[in-house]
Amino acid sequence: MENYDVIIVGGGAAGLTAAIYTCRKKLKTAVISLDLGGQTMLTNHIENYPGFDLIPGPELMSKFEQQASKFGAEIIMGEVESIKKKKNSFSVELKTKEKYESKTVILAFGKTARRLNIPGEDKFFGRGVSTCATCDAPFYKEKTVAVIGGGNSALEAAELLTQFAKKVYLTHRRKEFRADEITIDKIKKMKKIEILLDYLPKEVKGDKFVESFVIENTKTKEQKILKVDGVFVEIGYELKTDWLKNLTKLTELGEIIIDNRCRTSQAGIFAAGDVTTVPFKQTIISAGEGAKAGLEAYKYIKGEATVVDWK
Ligand code: NAP
Repeated sequence: MENYDVIIVGGGAAGLTAAIYTCRKKLKTAVISLDLGGQTMLTNHIENYPGFDLIPGPELMSKFEQQASKFGAEIIMGEVESIKKKKNSFSVELKTKEKYESKTVILAFGKTARRLNIPGEDKFFGRGVSTCATCDAPFYKEKTVAVIGGGNSALEAAELLTQFAKKVYLTHRRKEFRADEITIDKIKKMKKIEILLDYLPKEVKGDKFVESFVIENTKTKEQKILKVDGVFVEIGYELKTDWLKNLTKLTELGEIIIDNRCRTSQAGIFAAGDVTTVPFKQTIISAGEGAKAGLEAYKYIKGEATVVDWK
């Protein structure tokens, strides 16, 4: 079994920054993640990350990854299934049953895109069904697509898709959107977008790829079959932290409770970024939190007292 000083779960802004910091302290570090870049990958226009006037999320995250790798972080693609406390370390097991041992763990796996859980969604995921308009919109040039959701993500996805698709259906399960008014006004004026309110998503159909999307009116129960090539599920994010509840304290919402040093209720386990109670889910904040978690893990390993560094 491979032994590490630090295992970081999650490869977004928080996790990769934590890795940069622990590697520079010469700690043997692995980043275990299902994907790299996290939610920052979902936006093409970052204008509030200091040092860059404007940078696409994927470009910024690729810089994070290169920097972490340059300093020696090992990237392991996979999903962590369990973390067990041992006497002086933690055993980290992946879904594939590979096991690793580490003196410390940094939890930084953010949030997961919520899914509809309707027939056809899984079957056509990656074959027309997507949770990332920023990543996949360019594949839909002159095609017809549907976007599901009534929040900022859905409306912004619909807007982005008009740059490529010939038609965009925006379907929402209620009459009112919850997105910002300014965005709602903009969307309502866009000719390529047809808004379908009070419709529940029912089924994604197709052969090898998506061919249609079935929705049902919440009041009349009338069903509509939309002939589409793509279905964009933009219905928010959820925290998948249930599996940690015997290890660290969580809020009712499932966020990992941390103090202002990224320490969790379990000594040796640190957490950073969107998966924690830290307010403001922003790339710059996740990066800063990741740095703190990395430095705190170093202090823990060195057995140094965690006094506040006022310098
Ligand atoms: P959100 O605000 O939680 O909206 C999710 C939408 O999906 C809601 O309209 C919800 O319907 C709908 N929905 C949820 N589950 C559904 C289901 N099973 N079937 C059908 N519809 C479902 O999520 P979000 O749009 O991803 O935004 C998350 C946060 O990020 C928000 O605070 C948002 O303001 C922020 N954000 C900001 C920006 C920006 O400022 N530029 C961009 C993107 C996101 P109901 O309305 O009926 O609940």
